[in-house]
Amino acid sequence: MRNWAGNVSYAAAEVAHPTSVGDVQRIVAQARRVRAVGTGHSFNRIADTTGTLLSASRLPRVVDVDSEARTVRVSAGLRYGDIGHVLRNEGLALPNTGSLPHISIAGAVATATHGSGAGNRILSSGVRSLTLVTATGDLVTADRESRPDDFDGWLVALGRLGVVVELVLDLVPDFEVAQTVVEDVDEGLLAEELTSVLASAYGVSVFADWRGGRATQVWVKEQVGRDGGWDGAPLWGGRAADGPRHPIPGMPVEHATVQMGQAGPWNERLPHFRLDFMPSSGDELQSEFWVAARHASDAWTALSGLRDRIAPVLQILEVRAIAADPCWLSPTRGEPTVAFHLTWVSDADAVRAAVTALESELTVFDVRPHWGKVFVTTPARLAELYPRLPDFRRLVAELDPAAKLGNELVDGWLGLD
Ligand SMILES: Cc1cc2nc3c(=O)[nH]c(=O)nc-3n(C[C@H](O)[C@H](O)[C@H](O)COP(=O)(O)OP(=O)(O)OC[C@H]3O[C@@H](n4cnc5c(N)ncnc54)[C@H](O)[C@@H]3O)c2cc1C
Repeated sequence: MRNWAGNVSYAAAEVAHPTSVGDVQRIVAQARRVRAVGTGHSFNRIADTTGTLLSASRLPRVVDVDSEARTVRVSAGLRYGDIGHVLRNEGLALPNTGSLPHISIAGAVATATHGSGAGNRILSSGVRSLTLVTATGDLVTADRESRPDDFDGWLVALGRLGVVVELVLDLVPDFEVAQTVVEDVDEGLLAEELTSVLASAYGVSVFADWRGGRATQVWVKEQVGRDGGWDGAPLWGGRAADGPRHPIPGMPVEHATVQMGQAGPWNERLPHFRLDFMPSSGDELQSEFWVAARHASDAWTALSGLRDRIAPVLQILEVRAIAADPCWLSPTRGEPTVAFHLTWVSDADAVRAAVTALESELTVFDVRPHWGKVFVTTPARLAELYPRLPDFRRLVAELDPAAKLGNELVDGWLGLD
């Protein structure tokens, strides 16, 4: 079994697709080593194990909306794209989504997956509670009331605390989004005003391929009918696209969600890619590096200085803003953040070389890598960047003293080995 990008062949001795929570409990209790896998959209061995790789995708489908509490209880293996229409039928919405609706909810939550928008937090911070099977096979539900001191450690947990079987997510009232692509934006202007460009609408993504002096595109996602919305200006020296665009010039526009300012449901506009059109396997690698928003312009300039190294292996750079959250292992913990996402060609060695240069250039900004993507940050550096790591280690010791749920990569990162 391989991940979506095809760059990881899982080392698991077996793959299990339990069809009941009881089966998950039995498999985990009996396993020597076990780890959950979601939809395999990570680009490293984060989900891997030498024992049993357990997928929650065939658990009974639960999408249980509580309109009064504005929450939904969902089974962990569902994809965000599977629940959007159900929420809309109830007049409700998720505040945000990642760029792809095909990613499993539990997998996204485990790695601090995010969408775009200076006012939007990572998807993990919209989790009200989660129910997981711990190493002993016990079913445990954690929420802020039952675990006030450490709930922030349970959300971005890299699959290390147990197999999540259900989550309760916070919702907001249903809303519509209009998406406009602005192209040929002035790069100098962007560099200076990056944070205000990123904060100019509900969700903003700046794309560049660094082959010219202009940003390729800025995708603006505006909540329709909300006060203070984006009014179509300024265009940052560019112009509104005269037709639909894919973030990577030349790729099929049918894969992209509806643009041209045409208002529509949040779940069909917040992701960049359509549920029915994204390829089921990818020909790319990805990295993503997060810096405090106050460093955004300087980090852009520093990265731009590496463009001759980066451009030959880069398909597209995407820059997004994310609001602060309290999760212990979140790259956005405590401070508004800007994420530099790089979609690379699928050449692992060349990408590693580019990533090494890039991380070294951004170290001065305390750069944090996306857990689910390609990075070379050392465990020693991660320990400096994540001051709550000792608390997370204590949580792991409490829930998984025999390290059944660990793997070499994750335990190395977290200093659990
Ligand atoms: C095309 C593409 C677009 C992307 N866009 C974005 C984006 O917009 N924003 C962003 O931040 N990231 C993005 N990503 C990265 C992606 O969101 C993360 O890698 C995410 O973790 C993938 O979820 P998954 O279900 O595939 O998890 P996997 O890759 O299968 O696993 C990731 C982690 O989740 C854990 N996990 C999975 N299921 C469970 C469970 N039931 N219980 C406990 N732990 C579990 C695994 O153990 C592992 O540690 C993108 C990736 C791709 C391929």
